[in-house]
Amino acid sequence: MHCAIGLDVGGTAMKAALTAADGTVLHTDRRPTNREHGPDAVVTAIVDFAADLAAAASTRGFECGAAGVAVPGIVEETTGTALFSANIGWRDVPLQKLVNERIGVPVALGHDVRAGGVAEARLGAGRGYRQFLFLPIGTGIAAAIVIDGQAIGGANGGAGEVGHIVVRPGGEPCGCGSAGCMETLASGSSIARHYAVLQAKRGGNATALSAAEVAARVATGDPAASAVWNDAVEALALALAHVTLVLDPGLVVIGGGVGDAGETLLAPLRKALAAHLTFARAPRLVRAELGDAAGSLGAALMGWDLLDGDRSQS
Ligand SMILES: [Zn+2]
Repeated sequence: MHCAIGLDVGGTAMKAALTAADGTVLHTDRRPTNREHGPDAVVTAIVDFAADLAAAASTRGFECGAAGVAVPGIVEETTGTALFSANIGWRDVPLQKLVNERIGVPVALGHDVRAGGVAEARLGAGRGYRQFLFLPIGTGIAAAIVIDGQAIGGANGGAGEVGHIVVRPGGEPCGCGSAGCMETLASGSSIARHYAVLQAKRGGNATALSAAEVAARVATGDPAASAVWNDAVEALALALAHVTLVLDPGLVVIGGGVGDAGETLLAPLRKALAAHLTFARAPRLVRAELGDAAGSLGAALMGWDLLDGDRSQS
C-alpha cells in the first residue's frame, strides 16, 4: 500500500502521521521539537524524524510516495522555505530541500494552521462546505481561509493572521509590536494570565490555572473566570465580525485548546457575533473535529497532493 508522511512541527512537540490516499491513518508518532537547543537542533530533529518515519513505513510494508511538513511562522510554499518563526527562532531554512535530500521522495512544505484547515476541509468539520474559516485558538491565534479544499496563503504567506486584528486600540502590548490585538485577550495563554491577575487583585490565592480550567470555572459561576471569559468572547466576536464583513465565510470551525471548551465558548460567541453584525449574516460556528491531529493529517494531504499533481500531468 502507498502512504504519505505528514509531519507537524509545533513549538514543543512534533506530531506525525502516515496516511493512505483516503486519509486512513496507518501509523502515528510524536517527538519533542528540541526548541530549547536552538533552530539548528530543530532542523536536525525534523530531518531525522522524517527519515525514521520513512523507515517505519517500509518496516510496515508501506511504500512512502511523498511527505508534507507543516511549520509555524512565515512559510514560502513555492520555494519550500521556512522564512521566519519567532517561536522556533529560524530564518530562511530550505526545509523542503533538506527533507527531500534525506528521504528521497517529493516533499511539500506548508504552514501549520493552513495544513490543519486543509485536514478539517477534507476529513473533518469542513466537509461539504466550499469555503470556511478554520480558527484554532491556542497559545497564539491564527486562521486558515479554506476555499475548495485548499487554504490560501496570501501574497506574502501572511493570510489569516486574525489574532493581530486590533480589538482594543491602545490596549495591552502584543508580542507582534502592536497593542490591543485580539490574541492579547482571547488566546489560551492570555486567558490564563488575565485570570491570575484578576484573582490576585481580588485577594484570591495565586494558583495558576490553564484556560481550560478557567473555562470549567465559568460554569460554576466564578466571577473572575466569567469576567476574563467574557473579555475573550467579546474580543473574538469583534475580530470575527470584521472577518465576516470581508470574507463572508459561512462557517467558522473553531479548534485549539480554547476551542475544546465547546459550547461554553460557542454559545456566548454566537450571541456576541450576531450583536456586532447588523445586516450581514453571521457564519455558523462549530467545533473542529480532528483535534491536535489536524496539522499532521493536513501535512500528509499536502504530500498526497504532490502525487495527485504528478498523476494529472502524466
Ligand atoms: Zn499582535
